[in-house]
Amino acid sequence: MKKSRAYVLLAALVVFICICTASLTEGRLPLKREALTLQNDNLRAMRIELTAEEIAQYADECNLPVGEYLCTLMAAENWTADVQTAQSLTHKQAVALRNRLVRHYPEEFYKMSSLYAGLVADMQCFPIPVSKGNEQMWVEYCDSWGLERTYGGERRHEGTDIMAQNNTPGIYPVLSATAGTVTNIGWLELGGWRIGITSENGIYYYYAHLDSYAPLSVGDTVTAGQLLGFMGNTGYSKVEGTKGKFDVHLHFGIYVTDENGTELAVNPCYLLKTIENKVLYYQYGV
Ligand SMILES: [Zn+2]
Repeated sequence: MKKSRAYVLLAALVVFICICTASLTEGRLPLKREALTLQNDNLRAMRIELTAEEIAQYADECNLPVGEYLCTLMAAENWTADVQTAQSLTHKQAVALRNRLVRHYPEEFYKMSSLYAGLVADMQCFPIPVSKGNEQMWVEYCDSWGLERTYGGERRHEGTDIMAQNNTPGIYPVLSATAGTVTNIGWLELGGWRIGITSENGIYYYYAHLDSYAPLSVGDTVTAGQLLGFMGNTGYSKVEGTKGKFDVHLHFGIYVTDENGTELAVNPCYLLKTIENKVLYYQYGV
């Protein structure tokens, strides 16, 4: 009788030790559930300073799908992914954190992973080609995510402005960064002549202030690298065709839909950098 009680006590002790060890190894997750949703501004800032190839390589080394790897890396490193952070996260740490995220927030983790995977898979071509005859003629852009804009009331900038070095409308071709279907084309007060392409992953890519369009209509499918139109300076007016209220540039936006069906912008700037090496050459501006 005594012996069996001792066994029970021993078993209880073993279970207790196991629980303690497990909770110690588990540690505190570095983030809350909300952090893994589109409501997290840091997540929507998309600070991914790795090329698509580097992401694929690191993901492969960890034996994780691209989206899951990127989501894990972003969550581990305060929503910033660059070569240094990727190298500091060992294969073992990445897999362990991924598993903890799956265990704690499976729905959010898989949703965000598939968003990252979709963005990386979609973005196949830098939207402005290099001029074959004049490689000096190029564009510039910086991270202006969230900066203040005032036309049409105070608002935050929800895209990236790719500025033309040659401030003449109608010269720079604008190419589709992704494959997809034309879902919007025509005038918008803010965006001027704009075109919207929705990818197979359900992500909406928005090109604004165009000077003119390639012959496309709603419902047409496009491939990555296909001509959409030419860069311009249209918009900031209810009057269709208004030009010249600002310098020639392409406003490039990326919109995703959250679980409530609301369209939310994510920052395109770093995603554009991931595909700077995927630039096409066109004959223009010579
Ligand atoms: Zn803009």
